Amino acid sequence: MLDVMRRSRYLAALMFSSKSWGQWSEKLKNIFGGPSPDAVSTQDLEKLLFESDLPASIIEKLVKKTRSARNENMQATVHTLVDETVKMLSHVPNPPLNLPTPGCILLVGVNGAGKTTTAARLGHYFQKKGRVVVLGAADTFRAGATEQLITWGNRLNIEVVSKGSGADPAAVAFETWQKAKEKNALMIADTAGRIHTQVPLMDQLEKIKRVISKDGAGAPHEVWLVLDGTNGQNAIIQAREFAKAVQLTGLVITKLDGTAKGGGALSSSIELNLPIRFVGIGEKENDLIEFNLEAFVKSFYGV
Ligand code: GDP
Repeated sequence: MLDVMRRSRYLAALMFSSKSWGQWSEKLKNIFGGPSPDAVSTQDLEKLLFESDLPASIIEKLVKKTRSARNENMQATVHTLVDETVKMLSHVPNPPLNLPTPGCILLVGVNGAGKTTTAARLGHYFQKKGRVVVLGAADTFRAGATEQLITWGNRLNIEVVSKGSGADPAAVAFETWQKAKEKNALMIADTAGRIHTQVPLMDQLEKIKRVISKDGAGAPHEVWLVLDGTNGQNAIIQAREFAKAVQLTGLVITKLDGTAKGGGALSSSIELNLPIRFVGIGEKENDLIEFNLEAFVKSFYGV
């Protein structure tokens, strides 16, 4: 029941709040729902799919698969698109999330992707599941990031370990991990936004990982790249660069309540062979939900 409710909320948020998505889905309907959908050219379909930020290799396969369905009707075609896309994405390994106690999740990504908000929302999610959570304010570079996380912590009643702006992020991460071990908690650490060209910042990430892994307890158990879902192709470029610098274990896609269709997110997941774990559909504490492949793909095609 809860799953059904969550899914309809998911679809509603993804489909109905997005103007540009609406346009895309309109175009889809125009192409397939015309008086003679069988007259639709392969180029038309390809052009439309390219607007979705899906990788070319996938688009090629989809166009091939839908060719016969297009001779029937729009519904058959869209269902073929959904089924085939789900099938392709099913190849990305998606093992059940199995976070030990104490456990540790590191969030990485560029500034503005939604890391701080995601750290807080994940804290809330796991707290609701009965876990004790400790948040680590290891983004000590961005002005206001620490305060932002502390405000969230106060609001959600979650402990936040911080050392203030400018502190050594690795020291914050280390202290958070010690606290997590002491409290048998799940540590979720925000880290500074960085881009691949900022070598010292990328090195800093390595240092964070080093200090929390040296006790041999297996931390960090998850390293998730937070991607802004509105970023399209740019999300893929970021994902590639981060994957080179740190060993990622999953993706979180934010801002899918906005104008995003999520094609960039799907592409990143396929290209890096990384599961999408959660998606952000708003700015409130409950606006982060578990990724559901079928619901995501259906909303992607507007069905
Ligand atoms: P950070 O720099 O990566 O830590 O990014 P923040 O967590 O500060 O988020 C940047 C902005 O994006 C903030 O205004 C957030 O409220 C907003 N944001 C984050 N996630 C979402 C989301 O899923 N939907 C929407 N609409 N806004 C989001």
